[in-house]
Amino acid sequence: MSIYEYTGNLHVHTPYSDGEALHAEVAQAAAKAGLDFIVVTDHNVWVNGCEGYYDKVLLLVGEEIHDVRRQPQANHLLVYGAEAELAPLASDPQGLIDEVSQRGGICYLAHPFEYRSPISPDLAAIPWADWDVTGYTGLEIWNYMSEFKALARSKLAVVLYAYFPALGIAGPFRATLRQWDRLMSQGKRIAAIGGADAHGSTYSLGPLRRVIFPYEHLFRCVNTHILTNRPLNGLLEHDKPLVYDALRAGHTWVGYDLLASTAGFRFHAHSGANRALMGDEMARAGATIFEVHTPHSADVRLLLNGRVTARTRGKHLRYTTAEPGVYRVEVYRQYQLGRRGWIFSSPIYVT
Ligand SMILES: [Zn+2]
Ligand SMILES: [Zn+2]
Repeated sequence: MSIYEYTGNLHVHTPYSDGEALHAEVAQAAAKAGLDFIVVTDHNVWVNGCEGYYDKVLLLVGEEIHDVRRQPQANHLLVYGAEAELAPLASDPQGLIDEVSQRGGICYLAHPFEYRSPISPDLAAIPWADWDVTGYTGLEIWNYMSEFKALARSKLAVVLYAYFPALGIAGPFRATLRQWDRLMSQGKRIAAIGGADAHGSTYSLGPLRRVIFPYEHLFRCVNTHILTNRPLNGLLEHDKPLVYDALRAGHTWVGYDLLASTAGFRFHAHSGANRALMGDEMARAGATIFEVHTPHSADVRLLLNGRVTARTRGKHLRYTTAEPGVYRVEVYRQYQLGRRGWIFSSPIYVT
């Protein structure tokens, strides 16, 4: 079976909520950054009628929904493919998630853990709070602007990381990864996405006045990569379900493409005649063989139920085991001042 790979960003704001650039400009920035698709997710507004190809970039429109009356703020839900305005359901997260499923959409808990910045009340933490919910597709395990917020512990730090973000950006929060593993240990199937949370806003701080961070920069950083079994053909009606089906199936990994492109990463397993891609569930038939390929040499780790079970330095990891469980891959690289997260795959569930 042929496999096709596409790179996109799933968390973007425009002036319809609190972003700066309109849909066509967002698509232009995505094209410059080399993305194949982009999904605009404005706060509590589903902007219908903008979807389509802008040159070679497929632009889709979802929504980031939260209850504006809730204090303190919590529970941002990224919704795709529901094809309706669902913000009125925001006060009941489970009801909202159920309605998304009913409508054939998919949804993810956005920036599930966050750390506030003390420098501005605008930089409050907005985590996920209602962890008993079920039926969502996955977690946004890595949100670039959330990580920047956590780094913004002082005005000096803001200046430093606004100019040299790569010095600070290091990977998903440990708390997020732990919670992800904990939820999967309860039997939940939880795919991974990562996003920019791009707003393109201008911040002023003393002598500093600049756009932190431009859309194009963000689209070169934390992206979601998908695998499909058919190629995109340039037609919205054909390609939109293909992208959403790949996300729904968890055929995804989160890549920090600034370090080096993560295109070409693969994680699959086979056991007897059974085969699985990241996101798939597979029944064990004797031993299971896992294979991981990375496009550049790196520190590659295969995790079983949240613990490292095999590890290699290089571009290829192969591991044979009889153990069932939840397997996922984390890959790290050295960059500037230290170790950086590079690739985080959705899991393969071996039963
Ligand atoms: Zn949010
Ligand atoms: Zn957002």
